[in-house]
Amino acid sequence: MIPPIASNFVAGETPEAALAHVEALNDRGVAGILNLLGEHYEERAPADADADAYVDLVGAIADRDVDACVSVKSSQIGLDIGDDVFEENLARIVEAANAPAATGPDGTGTFVWIDMEDHETTDVTLDAFERHAVATDGNVGVCVQANLKRTRDDLERLADLPGKVRLVKGAYDEPAELSYKEKARVDESYRDCLAYMFEAFEGGIAVGSHDPAMIEHAKELYAEHGTPYEVQMLTGVRESAQFELAAEDDVEVYQYIPYGSKWFSYFYRRIRERKSNALFALRAVVGN
Ligand code: FAD
Repeated sequence: MIPPIASNFVAGETPEAALAHVEALNDRGVAGILNLLGEHYEERAPADADADAYVDLVGAIADRDVDACVSVKSSQIGLDIGDDVFEENLARIVEAANAPAATGPDGTGTFVWIDMEDHETTDVTLDAFERHAVATDGNVGVCVQANLKRTRDDLERLADLPGKVRLVKGAYDEPAELSYKEKARVDESYRDCLAYMFEAFEGGIAVGSHDPAMIEHAKELYAEHGTPYEVQMLTGVRESAQFELAAEDDVEVYQYIPYGSKWFSYFYRRIRERKSNALFALRAVVGN
């Protein structure tokens, strides 16, 4: 069982718990992005098992008729074993997400996001995204990272494709020759990339950030260009801001919802990355 302090950041261990979390969010105007925790499998069996779990999940999303999509990690569905394993499992998930069993009353299948991992995975991930974006007429999305120097150029390729693109600052410690290291430089890159997206994209812009300055920047760009966009934040992080934004007319809000039995390392990462999260955890432990 997930202890109460961790359940602030993780929706539960089962898909049922995650879907119940989505239902409660939907009631407050926020949609869900479900992520089964797991990554860097070196053997085929767990990669295939997680892909199977996503195949079941896209059907369950349609059955429950909740406003939700899924987000998968390439190393979770086999990239460390081989590009072919990743591609095969991704194709299975995308196919299931667009099959009649996963198609909601509005006739569209379940949307599939592909998270972005370290720079060695960027090309294979973008190539896979491109194939599925074209084949599904835009029912997939991909994440790109503002800390990578290549991202501004990658956005020019992505601008011509259907689907959605989530811009994040980047969670991986990348080599200095390939990435911006200073926070201020990463923020500047984020602003530039976002400005380009609002100019060049017709839609499908996702602001994956908790940073009030980046969200304000997106609001200003929307006022200038009118391009539709969404904001995505994690479960347990600035949730009151998520609900406040969802009450506004001009933006859709999604919560990225991790769940599953491998919750401990994810929870530990959230605690380490921010002092306020660590204090929150400490208070919960001392209070018990
Ligand atoms: P930061 O630069 O960390 O913080 C800026 C400001 O935001 C802070 O000063 C504070 O005001 C506010 N803030 C941030 N965190 C908190 C908090 N815990 N509580 C209160 N205020 C806070 N990275 C990848 O590399 N690949 C991915 O596929 C990926 N997917 C993601 C999906 C989503 C939906 C999100 C939200 C992030 C994702 N990330 C991903 C992580 C991302 O790259 C960043 O590491 C992470 O979001 C931290 O950057 P930030 O923009 O939120 O703000």
